[in-house]
Amino acid sequence: MTFSFDLKATDGKARTGLISTPRGEIRTPAFMPVGTAATVKAMLPESVAETGADILLGNTYHLMLRPTAERIDRLGGLHKFMNWERPILTDSGGFQVMSLADLRKLTERGVTFKSHIDGSKHEITPERSMEIQRLLGSDIVMCFDECPALPADRDRIAESMRLSMRWAQRSRDAFGDRPGHALFGIQQGGLEEDFRAESAEALRAIGFDGYAVGGLAVGEGQAAMFGCLDFAADQLPEDKPRYLMGVGKPDDIVGAVARGIDMMDCVLPSRSGRTGQVFTRRGVVNIKNARHADDPRPLDEDCRCLACRSYSRAYLHHVFRSQEIISSMLLTWHNLTYYQDLMQQMRKAIAAGRFDAWQTAFHTSRAQGDLAPL
Ligand SMILES: [Zn+2]
Repeated sequence: MTFSFDLKATDGKARTGLISTPRGEIRTPAFMPVGTAATVKAMLPESVAETGADILLGNTYHLMLRPTAERIDRLGGLHKFMNWERPILTDSGGFQVMSLADLRKLTERGVTFKSHIDGSKHEITPERSMEIQRLLGSDIVMCFDECPALPADRDRIAESMRLSMRWAQRSRDAFGDRPGHALFGIQQGGLEEDFRAESAEALRAIGFDGYAVGGLAVGEGQAAMFGCLDFAADQLPEDKPRYLMGVGKPDDIVGAVARGIDMMDCVLPSRSGRTGQVFTRRGVVNIKNARHADDPRPLDEDCRCLACRSYSRAYLHHVFRSQEIISSMLLTWHNLTYYQDLMQQMRKAIAAGRFDAWQTAFHTSRAQGDLAPL
């Protein structure tokens, strides 16, 4: 069985479809929870599946340092290691080397750096990134790229983008022919329309199974990100999945889908679950606020998750304040369920040709704010 993408319906620029892999199907638009260290923090894999996730994201940088890709390979690969048999996408390691590692040195060949964990020295090249992602057993492999922090001047953005395109060719060559596994190229070029077009053309000439929009959600703000997506998504092939990396808040996700994006990932729903920030149909709720201490109502009456079905706001407030482990578990479960329900609602609305009306209702509901205190 091979990797394929079936675009089922479009509504404006929004798309819904199905990615097929030997490990299962991925309904798009898809949100990928992040399993940084071979776990989605505070969640059992079975629970992550129950929220509706079809695919997880794993981080090459973290896994290569600890427990190492070689060890995971010896133990049967990442799926078996973490007990998640469905598809996994791994990033290339590039972004986190730039954001986490010490003493980085960037050359044409690749990046050398020191581990943020123990100071040990490592190198990632396009060839090494392909090897690590193969050892992990990733279903969707990302090209090794470089992403400059924004704002940056045009010369720096162009130079970086062209380096990433040379690395994209080296990634393609090193990936080889692996039936059932996909390799995605990553478009760069900052917020510049001409560089984004040049990057898309370079990737298209190499040929990939899917295309990511890289280098956004790095501090440019939502308006600038949407402004860039207005042209960047259109520059990518229509018949392949389009993945926006590292996004985002619920309204970022809706806006990205409206601009033709099929896949996204973000630590936000799981990380926020651990800090007491909860996403609901009526906007963000901070469970630590004293107003919840006597409130017997669920977080969100319409939510199907375990936290909303079985626990009150008062209980969730109490376990958060008491720093009980169950607090992270329940709030993460809720947030991941909220994100997956959002994706499901969008898939249905796009298929039915009523995505505009759905978007209006989404924004109206959030603008109401949380329920009035009792
Ligand atoms: Zn819930």
